[in-house]
Amino acid sequence: MSARDQAALKSVPAAPATVAEEARAILSRLGVPDQVFAPAGRPATSPITGETIVHIRETTPEEAKAAIGRADAAFKAWRKLPAPKRGEFVRLIGEELRAAKDDLGRLVTLEAGKVTSEGLGEVQEMIDICDFAVGLSRQLYGLTIATERADHRMMETWHPLGVCGVISAFNFPVAVWSWNAALAFVCGDSVVWKPSEKTLLTALATQAIVERAAKRFGGVPEGLSEVLLGGREIGEILVEDHRVPVLSATGSTAMGRQVGPKLAARFARAILELGGNNAAIVAPSADLDLALRGIAFAAMGTAGQRCTTLRRLFVHDSVYDQLVPRLKKVYSGVKIGDPRAEGVLVGPLIDKSAFDGMERALDEARAAGGIVHGGGRYTDGACAEGYYARPALVEMPEQTGPVLRETFAPILYVMRYTDFDQVLEQHNAVGAGLSSSIFTLDMREAESFISVAGSDCGIANVNIGPSGAEIGGAFGGEKETGGGREAGSDSWKAYMRRATNTINYGKTLPLAQGVKFDVDA
Ligand code: NAD
Repeated sequence: MSARDQAALKSVPAAPATVAEEARAILSRLGVPDQVFAPAGRPATSPITGETIVHIRETTPEEAKAAIGRADAAFKAWRKLPAPKRGEFVRLIGEELRAAKDDLGRLVTLEAGKVTSEGLGEVQEMIDICDFAVGLSRQLYGLTIATERADHRMMETWHPLGVCGVISAFNFPVAVWSWNAALAFVCGDSVVWKPSEKTLLTALATQAIVERAAKRFGGVPEGLSEVLLGGREIGEILVEDHRVPVLSATGSTAMGRQVGPKLAARFARAILELGGNNAAIVAPSADLDLALRGIAFAAMGTAGQRCTTLRRLFVHDSVYDQLVPRLKKVYSGVKIGDPRAEGVLVGPLIDKSAFDGMERALDEARAAGGIVHGGGRYTDGACAEGYYARPALVEMPEQTGPVLRETFAPILYVMRYTDFDQVLEQHNAVGAGLSSSIFTLDMREAESFISVAGSDCGIANVNIGPSGAEIGGAFGGEKETGGGREAGSDSWKAYMRRATNTINYGKTLPLAQGVKFDVDA
């Protein structure tokens, strides 16, 4: 953590006025206009206390369609700007984010319930992807390819694609937008964002930050960055509109099952970032101190509400009785509470339905022979106002019932194993394929885990947990996680269209594959 972050953490008062008052003050400082608030609108609540912060006027279907139209027109102008100039706009967004980091990070905490360092970390991730995209704006390269024809040149060029739709989940209320938008902007696309209906405030604050950057840049076409406020009905408009050639949808696999076929039916490009059921293997040679820390963060961090949260843990029989009792101790001692308070590592669940889902999964686990440690509602002090849960560690006899699916809450299912090949099979025997890890000092096991016959996930780590990715790599997963990739590496290619160009600079017209087609000309 940087010195600046540490200072911000220290400056956070333990008990500020009310959550609502503090959030409203931040919205005002970040320049969110009052017109977006309406007494009869959708309530924006805080999971910390359950209180309503403001009511927000939702986007109507007509307004959503008009916004897509503006974005389409903006794209046609934006695509003509040289990419490094587009990068300058993203650089300014990064600058504005740096200036707003403390406020926006705090708003993430107030609206999504993340502990302070994670709220700030989310904004840092936005800054990081902006930096990445600025560099990328000078590296949108294609290949020159050897051609079989004399006096010819073959190459590929990358062109902007159009309006990029972004649908995002509540648990990364702003970072997911930035992974997509920073790339889309430098690639020459415009962006229409449908944030989670549970986190509209951070979306509005982000939009205000983008507008400040646009003002400084000058000449950003109106409609380059649009936000649609509402629930799934508004998201559906984005999914169904043929003016949106690429859509990145982050959320549950259930959402992906609805969105994916609709995009396929109109041949739009889909970047699906869906649910995970992530596992870790602790092998006999593992550094158990390191594994313990990695498991604790991956399983309990963000109150188990990360797509990459560790949900299944396979521990080798030979180290099970060393590791699991220590893990149970960590679970029973972890500090739960107001995510703004120093030392708290587990904040609230987003809402009642998340808590009920956790209770249901624990009941099912018990019925399947699981022994549950922890779990249940945490109501100490002011926590009674929100839905705080004690993280649960569940010792399971085998991988059955609720272990096979994602429950978006802090439940870690722990299972014994004896055979490496069998545990790899178990590891891959679930629907989702997002993130995975192995704790081992055995080079053969480590390499096998990330090899062709190893983990089938989009992310496979060695000696770190499955959560907490950085932006330099491509992020996403296989199978029911949807197959999409965002952020670093060559993810940018999804936001552009590729043209293969063949140029004949000779005086004859040789055909490929030796085909003859001689006409009298
Ligand atoms: P959710 O599926 O309930 O909602 C996600 C978004 O999709 C929201 O904006 C919602 O309004 C929209 N939506 C839902 N149905 C829609 C439809 N039919 N058409 C258009 N839009 C629709 O998810 P959530 O509860 O906000 O987030 C938690 C889920 O997201 C978990 O499953 C988690 O694993 C997943 N997630 C995945 C990633 C990833 O990168 N793979 C990242 C974060 C979260």
